[in-house]
Amino acid sequence: MSEARPILKVENVTKTFGGVVANRDISMEVREGQIVGLIGPNGSGKTTLFNSIVGYHPIDAGEVWFKGRPLSRLRVGAIARMGLLRTFQQTRIYGKMTALENMLISLPQRARGVFDLLRPRGVEGMERANELLQFVGLHSKRHHVAGDLSFGQQKLLEFAMALMNEPDMLLLDEPTAGINPTLINGLIDRLKRANEEMGITLLVIEHNMRVIMNLAEHIYCLAHGEMLADGPPDAIRNDQRVIDAYLGAH
Ligand code: ADP
Ligand code: MG
Repeated sequence: MSEARPILKVENVTKTFGGVVANRDISMEVREGQIVGLIGPNGSGKTTLFNSIVGYHPIDAGEVWFKGRPLSRLRVGAIARMGLLRTFQQTRIYGKMTALENMLISLPQRARGVFDLLRPRGVEGMERANELLQFVGLHSKRHHVAGDLSFGQQKLLEFAMALMNEPDMLLLDEPTAGINPTLINGLIDRLKRANEEMGITLLVIEHNMRVIMNLAEHIYCLAHGEMLADGPPDAIRNDQRVIDAYLGAH
């Protein structure tokens, strides 16, 4: 795996809000096919880093590279069309539409070219939507109004909606937050399968240590907006700086 080429490179990224330095001189790398974790106490800059990567806001310094191309001048939509998508800490589904309708409207985010735009995507889109609802275990709920699904099911739906766009890489912001333990195991299993079977590279912000140690092969740890440490799960688990950062935060 370590010989795989980097798909995402973050180089010396700094992002400030007024006087607050939310990300200071952050560098990291994710290789194609990896599942990488991003951890750190609340307020350490994890979500900001995702926003910096996907072009949600301009950065003050540094550069982000995806598949060898610099992203800093591109907008969210253009970055999504290159195959890089993110999900949000709070789900962004349409509560009054059914699960299936949510799947179908999430499709056009990533048209690959003019022929894709011209091709009627009705039947194909419907098939894919049904397959992916099956994949996340929501097929029997496809005609339920999304707002009536449990929070965990809404997160699974959001994950399936992201998959509709056939991303090459997904950034997931606390996918298991607020989900009950049974669904957490199901979600971890789906994340691993999306990685193994669909070849999607994953960068996952995760608060639950057990989850991230089980999921990621490499973990980056932020504290106070700076990169504190990175390494394989066992090294991170035993890193005194990481332990202190978490203890200091509570
Ligand atoms: P995390 O996701 O690790 O909990 P965030 O990236 O959300 O941390 O926040 C990092 C810091 O940046 C915090 O001090 C937060 O208050 C600040 N911050 C984040 N987004 C904004 C914003 N849009 N405007 C001002 N400050 C922000
Ligand atoms: Mg956050």
